[in-house]
Amino acid sequence: IEIINEGLVEIRVPKFDKVSSSAPVFYNPKMEFNRDISILALQTFQEEVEREINICDVFGGSGIRAIRYKKEIEGVGIVSVNDISSLAIEQSKQNALNNNVEIDIYQKEANIILRENRGVFDVVDIDPFGTPSYFVDSVGYSLKKDSLLCITATDTSALCGTYKEPCIRKYNAVPFKSEYCHENGIRILAGFVSLTLAKYKKYIEDIKLSHSSEHYMRLYIKIDKGSKATDDSLASNIGYISHCKKCLYRTAIKGLANPIPEFCPVCGEKLISAGPLWIGKLQNPDFISKMIEKLDEDNSNRKKLNTEDKILKLLHSCFEESNAPITFYDIHVICKNLKISAPKIADIMDEIKKEGYIVVKTHFNPIGVKSDIGIVRLKEIINSLV
Ligand code: SAM
Repeated sequence: IEIINEGLVEIRVPKFDKVSSSAPVFYNPKMEFNRDISILALQTFQEEVEREINICDVFGGSGIRAIRYKKEIEGVGIVSVNDISSLAIEQSKQNALNNNVEIDIYQKEANIILRENRGVFDVVDIDPFGTPSYFVDSVGYSLKKDSLLCITATDTSALCGTYKEPCIRKYNAVPFKSEYCHENGIRILAGFVSLTLAKYKKYIEDIKLSHSSEHYMRLYIKIDKGSKATDDSLASNIGYISHCKKCLYRTAIKGLANPIPEFCPVCGEKLISAGPLWIGKLQNPDFISKMIEKLDEDNSNRKKLNTEDKILKLLHSCFEESNAPITFYDIHVICKNLKISAPKIADIMDEIKKEGYIVVKTHFNPIGVKSDIGIVRLKEIINSLV
């Protein structure tokens, strides 16, 4: 048995050599960062909706996430933790008891607990091994209006398009392995959620925060209900991204019924298209700044989160990105394309800014630049700096 201190809780988990899905009870210390962010996000959501929130951690593992939700978030009603494994359930019971926390504990298959509790939860947390795709339909059935879906995917190679078939199979979307494939991956997951929920007349009102970190992608999605609003959301947020491998031009195509251009308007090469995927916003700046404020507040009157510096860095980056256009430029890829050595990114960004374009960095890639400048002008700027 190992004792773990995280946030305001102390949990016990059986010691094992390697973090893997075959461990008797799953606890991954690397996900402390993810759990810390979740607490800030759920608290911010609770304050926005101004009501007591009931939370279900559908894939509970050791119970640490649910116990922390109950202990560290204010305005929380019932927290339910579910896991298919009886060992995990035992651990969750013990850990809840040791932390003096009352949570409801279920041992059900994830789809079953979601289907049996339609309209009950204000927050549903989906944190399975690998793909969440098998559970999204039940999420659509279960979620009520004005609720929050937190969803993690660790099958990043499928979403990023290392191989096409797994992504088509799991997310019914064609991926594209490019320098911005992590952003595309998040967009494919969000698109899949949006299209799956649509049959229940539910839609993504807003993606509050989304990030790709280490081996996973995570999204905080505000869900609402209504057939007309669902139609409108699909029409304006679902589409395709087309990319030219030869000159690096890219564009987003809105809607499922609109024609996808076949050839690059810049160089005439055949375009490659990814999707259907979410082409709407991936970050909500108001929500993120409230999370940042909360982190500052928390400093004075409660235990500092171990991962605070890392969280602040991510949140500031996501805040900056919130208004930036779709995809980003990888300066090294462009310079390779131009067969020149790369100038300083700061100098390139200064020049873009001087011309009045949006230009920000992105958490997806340290040398990525998000901008509404077109590839042609960007290449001219880069060339002029060499
Ligand atoms: N959320 C946890 C945390 O933050 O520590 C980690 C969850 S772990 C990645 C996935 C858990 O899901 C495992 O404990 C596993 O037993 C459970 N699980 C796997 N398939 C399941 C299913 N179909 N229904 C319910 N639980 C499942």
